[in-house]
Amino acid sequence: MTILDGKALAQKMQAQMAKEVSQMAVKPALMVILVGDDPASAVYVRNKARVAEKIGIHSETLRLPETTTEAELLELITKYNADPSWHGILVQLPLPKHIDEGRVLHAIDPKKDVDGFHSYNMGRLMAGHPAMVPSTPAGIIEMLKAYDITLSGKHAVVVGRSNIVGKPMAMMLLAENATVTVAHSKTADLADLTRSADILVVAIGRAKFVTAEMVKPGAVVIDVGMDRDENGKLCGDVDFEDVKDVASLITPVPGGVGPMTITMLMQQTIKACREQVG
Ligand code: NAP
Repeated sequence: MTILDGKALAQKMQAQMAKEVSQMAVKPALMVILVGDDPASAVYVRNKARVAEKIGIHSETLRLPETTTEAELLELITKYNADPSWHGILVQLPLPKHIDEGRVLHAIDPKKDVDGFHSYNMGRLMAGHPAMVPSTPAGIIEMLKAYDITLSGKHAVVVGRSNIVGKPMAMMLLAENATVTVAHSKTADLADLTRSADILVVAIGRAKFVTAEMVKPGAVVIDVGMDRDENGKLCGDVDFEDVKDVASLITPVPGGVGPMTITMLMQQTIKACREQVG
């Protein structure tokens, strides 16, 4: 079994990006908007700012109170859309309940949509056109390629169908000529299906849900989950200790998909800057 070391790959890519950014006449700039005081979101936003700084991307975090109205948030997005000094705009999810997430995400100029959550970008991804793409599945594809894993003709099973991970993951694997099956909470005989996967991507948010019996010997297992185990320790959707001897390659949690996600977000910001500055 080989561990897919997302942390090492992320560091290597970040060093390359820092070199690239140092040679850009206009530095990429990312506006991160955080509404409310969700503790996990605060950690994600801090990590994004730290990695941006390391690469030389200018980033600012606008921290807004929980009581911010949808109209106020939309007004700010309109302002940053029109301001050419910001190349990327990211609204940290989840938003407080009184704000319509879809309306907010669709207010972001698709060119500045570094998270790739706007339907324009999702549609382009589905149609196979160049687009801003969601960072988590993009990071997974990058990792699979870095480890020379053949995707063409392989059966890839994606467990989870969220707009931010499962669905775009399926589209990206399809674009790499994998034969893709998407599973979800209503899927019958899930273990039968996952056992037929050459590439198994799990993004469900259930701690240690995937066990050795659900994995085909020699499969590549990608664990997107960021969960807490019974002792409150960070773990994935895959029971790593159980599955590691069955899989040929597996991502750990932490140190697998997570670091790649932030890295790809920075890559999208650099891309957005290049496209806007010309
Ligand atoms: P989500 O929006 O809650 O979606 C979960 C998906 O899993 C849904 O499609 C759901 O099916 C499916 N599901 C839930 N229980 C299932 C079960 N028992 N069997 C089969 N499918 C099941 O979650 P998400 O945003 O995609 O995130 C998934 C996990 O990845 C979370 O742990 C999250 O923290 C993590 N995550 C990590 C990163 C990273 O960078 N490492 C990034 C994003 C997310 P239905 O559609 O039928 O309800």
